[in-house]
Amino acid sequence: MKNNRIKCISIVLLLFLAKGINAQVKDVIYPLPANSFHFNGFFENDIQNSIKHWSKGVVPYAALAEKFRKGRSLFALGEMWGKAVRSGCMFYRYTQDPELKKILEATVADILTTQRANGSISCSEIDKQPDGPGGDLWERKYVLLALYQYYTNVNKDPKVLLSMIDQADCIVSQVGYPPKTRIIDLGWSPNHIESSTILEPIMQLYNLTGKKSYLDFAKYIIEEGGSKGYNFIEDAFNNVAPMNIGGVYPKAYEGMSFFEGLVEYYRVTGNEHIKTAIINHYHNIIKNEITIIGNGGGDQPYHPEVQGEGWDNTALEQTNPDIKRMMETCVGVTWIKLCSQILRLTGDPSTVDMIEKYAYNGLIGAMKPSGDGFSYVNLLNGVKTNKQGWGDTIDSIYVTCCNLNGPMGLAYLPYVAIMNSESGPVINLYNQGKAKVLVSKKCSANLIIETDYPKSGHILVKVNPEISQRFTLKLRIPAWSINTKLTVNGKPIKATPGTYAGINRNWSKGDRVELSLDMRCRVIDAPHGSNRKGDNFKALVRGPIVLARDENIDKNFDQPVNILSKGGYVDVALETPISKSTRMQFRVPTSNGYIHMVDYASVDSWNGKRICTWLPF
Ligand SMILES: [Zn+2]
Repeated sequence: MKNNRIKCISIVLLLFLAKGINAQVKDVIYPLPANSFHFNGFFENDIQNSIKHWSKGVVPYAALAEKFRKGRSLFALGEMWGKAVRSGCMFYRYTQDPELKKILEATVADILTTQRANGSISCSEIDKQPDGPGGDLWERKYVLLALYQYYTNVNKDPKVLLSMIDQADCIVSQVGYPPKTRIIDLGWSPNHIESSTILEPIMQLYNLTGKKSYLDFAKYIIEEGGSKGYNFIEDAFNNVAPMNIGGVYPKAYEGMSFFEGLVEYYRVTGNEHIKTAIINHYHNIIKNEITIIGNGGGDQPYHPEVQGEGWDNTALEQTNPDIKRMMETCVGVTWIKLCSQILRLTGDPSTVDMIEKYAYNGLIGAMKPSGDGFSYVNLLNGVKTNKQGWGDTIDSIYVTCCNLNGPMGLAYLPYVAIMNSESGPVINLYNQGKAKVLVSKKCSANLIIETDYPKSGHILVKVNPEISQRFTLKLRIPAWSINTKLTVNGKPIKATPGTYAGINRNWSKGDRVELSLDMRCRVIDAPHGSNRKGDNFKALVRGPIVLARDENIDKNFDQPVNILSKGGYVDVALETPISKSTRMQFRVPTSNGYIHMVDYASVDSWNGKRICTWLPF
C-alpha cells in the first residue's frame, strides 16, 4: 500500500514536470480532438460494420489477455491483445460509444492484473526475459501502444500510466549495451527489426512523463540502427530501395513500424538526419513498392521466403504472374499510419493521395462483408482475399495479424479526413461528413461536406463559423485531378493538382465552397517489372477508384479485352450494380461491345470467385 502511494505521488510529480516537455518540432497539420468529425456517407458503413462485428463482436479479449498469464503457444501471439485494444480505442475516439468504452475498460483492468513482479506485462516468465525468439519485445510494444491509446483517448486512469511506467522501466533495465541484452539480439526474424519498433511507445511515454531514461533508451535504439547487421536509418537516408534494406528479410510491416517510432523521435529531438531518412524512405516506398490499390510487398521474384510480406519492388512487379501472395493488410494499414505521421510533420498532400488510394481500394477491399475480419494477403488478379494467415484459433475465432490491423486502418480514416493547422482547417478526404473545427482561440466553425463522392466528383462544403472570421481553408487537390473547378460563393479559385488549395478570406455563416474533381477514367499501362509478360496488361482508374472485372457477375472476367480509349481516357458510365453488395458498377466500352466493371473493393472473393484488375489485351 505504502509503496503504491509513493508511486502515485511520483506520478503526479512526473506529470507536473512533463508539462515542461515540448516537442522541438511542431506539426504543421494536426488531428482534431476526439468526436469532432463524423462521416455520414461512404466509409461509415464499413467503420460501423467493423466496430459492431469485430471490436464489440467476436474479439476474444479475455483469452488474448490470458496469454500474459499462461504464456504463448506461438511466437509473438502476445501482440494480439494490444492490437485489438488499440484499434478499439481509436474507434472510441471517433464514436464515444459507451458500450465500447465498457468493453475496453474491462479488458484493460484485466490486463493490469497480469503485471509480473518485475513490472513487465509479458508472455514470458521473468527468468526468460527478455525473450528473443518468443517475440517478447514486439508483444510488449503492443501492450504499451494499446495502453497509450486507452490513456489518451478513453480513460486517463493514473493506474494505467503507472503500469506503463513500470513496464517501460523494466524494459530499460533489461535491454541495452552489455551486460544488458542488446536490442538487435532480440526477435524472431533474421534481422530482428521488430524489436526496435518499441521505439514508438517509448517516445510516447517520454512525451507523457518527461523521464530522461526513456529518451536515453530511444537514443540507444537509434544507435543500434534498428536491426542486426543492417542500419535501417542510414540505408533509408542513402536512398537504398526498401527491398534491399534488412537483408533476406525486408519485412514491410515491421520496417515501417520502426519508422513510425523514428517520426516520434524526430518530433522531440529535431534531428534533421533522422527526418531526411524518414522522408527519403517514404518516397522510395512510393517509387518502388506501392501498387495500383495502394499497398505493397510480394513474394516473387525477390523474396519468396518472406511469404508475400516483404518489400519486393512491388510497384514494378505488380503484374508479374508468378506472384502468389502480396500486399499483406498489416502492410497497407501501417503504410497509411506512416503517411499520416509524415502529413503531420510536413503538410505534404501526396501522403493523403496515398491514404486515399489504399482506403478506397486495398483496405475496404480486404474486409470481410461480415465485418469480423480482414484478408491476410490480397491479389490484383485471381482470388483476391485470403483468410489464412499468421495467427491462431483462440476461443474458436481464427485471429490473424491482419484481422487485428484492418480495423486500425478504418479508424484512421476519420482521424485524417479533416484536420487543423495554425492557419485553419484542412480538408483531406471528401466523403460526406460533418466537422467542428477551432478556427481561432475562441471561435469554431462547422464544416459540412455534402457529396456522393467518389461516385461523382462534385463536392459542396458549407462553411459556418460561429462568428465571421478570417482563416485559411485548405482543400486537397488530388494529383490525379487534372481539370479541377473550385469556387467560393460562385467565384473561381485556382486549384493545382497535387497541392492544397488554400483559401484565405473572411468567412461567414452560409459560405459555400464547390469543388469539382476530374473523374475521367484513366487508362494505366502496366509497369515494366522483371517479368516482361507483365507488359500486356492495362488497368482503369476513375478518381481514386480502381476498376476491376468480377467473376461473380462476368464469366469472361479474365479474357483479353480491347478497351476503347481516347487520349488516355475511357468514357465509362455509372450503372445500377448487378450485385447488391457492389458499391459502384460501370459500363466500359470495348471494341467488342460493353463490359461491366466494378470498384476493386466490392469484388467478393470470400466465396472463391476471382477478380481481374490488370486486364490482359
Ligand atoms: Zn498481417
